[in-house]
Amino acid sequence: MSTVWPLLEPRLARVERPARYIGCEDGAQTPVHAPHKVAWLLLYPDTYEVGLPNQGLQILYEILNERDDAVAERSYAPWTDLEAELRTHRVPLFSLENHLPAGRFDVLAFNLSAELTYTNLLNCVDLAGVPVRAEHRADDAPLVIAGGHCTYNPEPLADFVDAFVLGDGEEVVSEITEVLAGWKRAGKPSGSRSAVLRELAAVPGVYVPSMYDVHYDGPALVAMQPRYPDVPALVEKRTITSLEDWPYPRNQLIPLTEVVHDRLNVEVFRGCTRGCRFCQAGMITRPVRERSAEQVRTMVANGLKRSGYDEVTLT
Ligand code: SF4
Repeated sequence: MSTVWPLLEPRLARVERPARYIGCEDGAQTPVHAPHKVAWLLLYPDTYEVGLPNQGLQILYEILNERDDAVAERSYAPWTDLEAELRTHRVPLFSLENHLPAGRFDVLAFNLSAELTYTNLLNCVDLAGVPVRAEHRADDAPLVIAGGHCTYNPEPLADFVDAFVLGDGEEVVSEITEVLAGWKRAGKPSGSRSAVLRELAAVPGVYVPSMYDVHYDGPALVAMQPRYPDVPALVEKRTITSLEDWPYPRNQLIPLTEVVHDRLNVEVFRGCTRGCRFCQAGMITRPVRERSAEQVRTMVANGLKRSGYDEVTLT
C-alpha cells in the first residue's frame, strides 16, 4: 500500500490544526503490514479532538496490534477544511500511522458512540472511496463494521454497514480477525464477500443485516427472519466476564493538540447497577464488572509515569 503523505503534506499548511492529521503521538503504534495480516482501520467518526480520547478505540488498537495476524491504524473525521482539500485534489481518507488510503484496508471499523455521528460515518466511507451502500461494495472492498453503544439500535444504518458488533469488543475483535484472516489466505476470491459475511454472522455478537429478511409496516419494523439456518435469529451482546483480564489501554495515546479529555483514563468498572433509564452504563453495559483496587493502582501509577500526565480520571 502506498502512502498518501506526499499528496497530504502540502495541504496541511492550509488547514486548521494540522496536528490532527500527522499521527506520531506517544503511544502510537508502528504497524507493519503483511499479506497475511488483517488490516483494520479503526475510525472514530468525529474530529481528532473528540475521537482520540475514546477508550474503546484505544483498547482495540492495542489488542489488534498485539496479534500476529492483524495490524490496526487509526483515522478520525477530517474537519471541513481538510475535507474540501481532499475532495478537490482527490486524496482519499487516510490512516494516521502510515498515511495509507482508507480504502486499502480490509476493515473500516467505526466506533459509534452517538447518533449524531451517523452522517459522519457515511461521509468517511465516501471519503475513503468506498461505496456508501453495502449492497454496492465489490468483493475486495473493505468491510464496514460498526461497534459501540449505538449498535444496539442498528437498523438506521443497516443499509450502509456490513456488520454490527454488539457489546464488549475485547474478545470478539479477535474472533472476527480469525474469520477475515482465513478469507485473506484464500485470496478473497470472486463472489466470496457474501460467504465471509455469513461466517461473520455466526460469530456471537455480530449482526450482519444482509443475512436477514426484514419486513416493515410503514416506518415500523415488524419482523426479521434469518436467510440461512446457520444465522442466529437473535443476536446477543458480547460481555467480558472480568475487566481484570483486560488491563487496556496499557499505553494511552497522548494527543498532539488539545482534546476534549486530556488526562489519563483508567476504567475502574464497567456497567452500573442503578439502572437510570437514560443511561448507557445503567441499561446496556450491565452487568457491573469491577477492576481490583490493586490493578487500578498499578494502572494509574504506570500510566502517569509513562504519559507524563499529572491528572487521572477513574471512569
Ligand atoms: S446515571 Fe448511569 S452511571 Fe450514574 S447511577 Fe445512573 S445508571 Fe449508574
